Amino acid sequence: MSKHLPLSVRVPIEPDNPSILRVEEKCIRCGMCKQVCTERMGVHGTYTLAETGDQAICIHCGQCANVCPPDSIIERDAHHAVQEAIADPDKIVIVSTSPSVRVALGEAFGLEPGTFVEGKMVALLRALGVDYVLDTNFAADLTIVEEASELIERVTSGNAPLPQFTSCCPGWVKFAELYYPELLPNLSTAKSPIGMQGPTIKTYFAKQKNLDPRKIVNVALTPCTAKKFEIEREEMCASVDYHGIPGMRDMDLVITTRELARWAKEAGIDFHSLPDASYDDIMGRASGAGVIFGNTGGVMEAALRTAYEYLTGTPAPEALYDLQPVRGYDGIREATLHVGEHELNVAVVYGTANARTLIERVKNGGKQYHFIEVMACPGGCIGGGGQPKDLLKDAD
Ligand code: SF4
Repeated sequence: MSKHLPLSVRVPIEPDNPSILRVEEKCIRCGMCKQVCTERMGVHGTYTLAETGDQAICIHCGQCANVCPPDSIIERDAHHAVQEAIADPDKIVIVSTSPSVRVALGEAFGLEPGTFVEGKMVALLRALGVDYVLDTNFAADLTIVEEASELIERVTSGNAPLPQFTSCCPGWVKFAELYYPELLPNLSTAKSPIGMQGPTIKTYFAKQKNLDPRKIVNVALTPCTAKKFEIEREEMCASVDYHGIPGMRDMDLVITTRELARWAKEAGIDFHSLPDASYDDIMGRASGAGVIFGNTGGVMEAALRTAYEYLTGTPAPEALYDLQPVRGYDGIREATLHVGEHELNVAVVYGTANARTLIERVKNGGKQYHFIEVMACPGGCIGGGGQPKDLLKDAD
């Protein structure tokens, strides 16, 4: 692929993009979308439209929407589809909330960035008519069990390549598919938390609650526009295998933090006066590991703690909690850690441009890494493309 087109080259966003769309007449030609796509994501400027058949390459991270001053680029809003499902008496609407939403939603209602509003978020969803509110942290725990088990297998058996890359960020997965297909065997085979939450609801939860899975409309509330793309991937229909119902999707709709805030305002709900509410049971409970998924380094930390316990049979030591070497907001952080008898070189990266830098270093440098976490957005999902717009804008 050719290098670096000038930022003045205009690239349309395809009308069938599942994550974002462009309102052309609002565009003020500031070039901020192209700048973030070039400098932070390492996508724009790596190709010409002649090479791609006039198709813009998009990893669906939504960072362009996050920086666009006049909202010319916006998320593909799905909250009206959720409203329609709620209005249908034959549907059961279940919303699962990602960890980063509960610390960002308050900002859309004038609260300090980072204010923890989990109880009000759950209450808001109930006030809007949602039947069940579940916590995606439940499936984040499942993801960690899978990622940690796979890491142990790779390190101890040598049957699969190292380093193992995380696979829970759909923006990063698409970037790897586009630019580094030779690395796909290195990506963990674990689905993302939302990728696991969807089929678990339509199988296990439906059975426990005696619900007809055909009536369930599964909605993910996320900080992430790339999840709108991810749920449409062909492999995200494990429920079909289980139930034998053609066309059934695991997760049906995705709405972002911004969309929920917009919906609440349209509905005239006073967010501040909502009394705190709790998640529904069975899939509303989780360990602390899932909670840290939302920040860069969180997946790595949770997986290493779990791997330590599996390898040694004892709880992870203090050193594997609050992993300072890989915490923080530098785009690439590295550490060497002892997990049982193994010495593991690990790295944590956010921004796919930084991922490209590290991958090229790995390819050319010869250092053996064992585990690399990549999240597309600045600071991880907390800076996702569907979050209130000022969040973490200065992360890098
Ligand atoms: Fe989505 Fe998080 Fe990846 Fe951003 S970092 S694309 S919010 S999964």
